[in-house]
Amino acid sequence: MSIVAPKARKHLSADALFHLVRSGFATMPDPRGEEVNISLTDALMSAFAMFSLKAPSLLAFDKERAEGNLHTIYGIERVPCDTHMREILDPVSPKVLRPLFKSLFRQLQRGKALEPLVFLEGHYLLALDGTEYFTSKTIHCASCLHRVHRNGSITYAHQMLGAALIHPDQRAVIPLMPEPIVNCDGTDKNDCERNAAKRFVARLRQDHPHLKFIVTEDSLSSNAPHIETLQDYDLRYILGVKEGDHTYLFQQVQAAEQAGRVTYYERHERAAGLVHRFRFVNDMPLNASQAHVRVNFIEYWESGEAKVQHFSWVTDIRVSKRTVYHLMRGGRARWKIENETFNTLKNQGYNFEHNYGHGEQHLSVVFAMLMMLAFLVDQAQQLCCALFQAVWAKLGSKRLLWERRRALFYTYALASMRQLFEALFYGLKKPTPVFGFDSA
Ligand SMILES: [Zn+2]
Repeated sequence: MSIVAPKARKHLSADALFHLVRSGFATMPDPRGEEVNISLTDALMSAFAMFSLKAPSLLAFDKERAEGNLHTIYGIERVPCDTHMREILDPVSPKVLRPLFKSLFRQLQRGKALEPLVFLEGHYLLALDGTEYFTSKTIHCASCLHRVHRNGSITYAHQMLGAALIHPDQRAVIPLMPEPIVNCDGTDKNDCERNAAKRFVARLRQDHPHLKFIVTEDSLSSNAPHIETLQDYDLRYILGVKEGDHTYLFQQVQAAEQAGRVTYYERHERAAGLVHRFRFVNDMPLNASQAHVRVNFIEYWESGEAKVQHFSWVTDIRVSKRTVYHLMRGGRARWKIENETFNTLKNQGYNFEHNYGHGEQHLSVVFAMLMMLAFLVDQAQQLCCALFQAVWAKLGSKRLLWERRRALFYTYALASMRQLFEALFYGLKKPTPVFGFDSA
C-alpha cells in the first residue's frame, strides 16, 4: 500500500500565504524613496523568511544567504546582509504591517479555516495578554520603555499586548496584530498595558466591524473602566477575578448565597477521574464605587485524584446550568495565549526574546511583529493543512520539524514549500551503504 501525501487547501497553503505576505509588503511605501539597490519588499520578506525558517539569529540567516530557495519559495529578489537589513527596517513604522494581519485573517475566513474556532453562538474567543520580550540595561532605542531604579540606573524594555483567537478544543491559535507597548515619541512617558488595550479594541473594531468576539483575560483586566471599554466596542467577555483583588464582589456573592440566590452545579467526568463543581450567580456589582457595572459570577473547582484546582470569572454572558461548563472551558482556555503563543514563540524555535538587532527607532518592534506574522502563517498551516499535520505527527515535535525543514531548504533546489513538505513526508531516498563481505 502506498502512502499518499494529504491534499492541501490551495489558497491556505504556505505558498499561497507567502505570496499574500509578499504582495502586502510590496504596497508599503519605502521611506528611502526610489533609488535603492535592495527594495523594502525584499528586506521585509527576508526578515519574514528568517522567522519563518526559524533561523537562530540574524547572523545565522545571513551566513546561509544562498538565494535560490529564498527566491523561488519566498519570492525574494535580493537578500540584504544583516547590517543592511537592520538599516532598511529600522525607520519602518510597525503600523504599516497591520493590513497584512487583516488580509491573512480574511483569507482564512474565506477558506472557512476559522470555523472550528467558533466558540459560542457565532462568537470567537479572543485572548488578550501583555508580555515583556526584551529587557536590557545598555541596549535601547527610541521605542523602549524606561524603568528608572532608585539608584538612578535604567532598565529598558519592550512589551506588547498579544491577541489570539483560541478555542478549548484546538491547539492552534490565530494571532491578530499585537499592540506594541512603547515609549511615546522618544520621551520619558511610558505607555502601559491598559492604554494599549484601549487602542487594541478600537483597532480591532476598525478591522473587523461585524465579527462577534468574547474577550478573555486575566484578573488584572477585571476593572470597571476596562469592562466599559469592552462594552463600548460591543465585545463580550469572560475575565478572571481573584478574591484578594475583588473583595467586594466576593462579599456580595457570599450575601447572595445566604439569601439562597446562588446556583450549584456538579459534573462528573468519570473517564478522566475528575469532578467539576460550580457555584454561580448572575447580576452582581463588580465593586462598591461603580455598582452600575453588573457582572455574572462563576466559581469553579476541579477535583482530580491528587489535587483541586480553583478558578473564578466574571462574564456578561448569562450563566445557567446549561452554559456554565462551556463558559468555564472558555475561561480556562485563556492560558493558551501564554502557553501556545508566548511560550511557543520563546521556546519553540522562534527565539522571541533573542536579540536579532535592536535598532534606534522601530527595528525591535518591527521584528516582533514580523515574527508574529510568521507565527500566524505557521498556525494557519497547523490548523488547516493536512500535509503539515501529517509531517508534524510523523516527526513528533515542532522542533524537529523546523530543523528538518531548514536542513532541506538549504540543501536542495525546491520549487515550493509544498514540495519541501512532501519530501519530509515521503522521506528522501538515501543512498544505500555498500558493505564489503569477506567470503573466506
Ligand atoms: Zn528599544
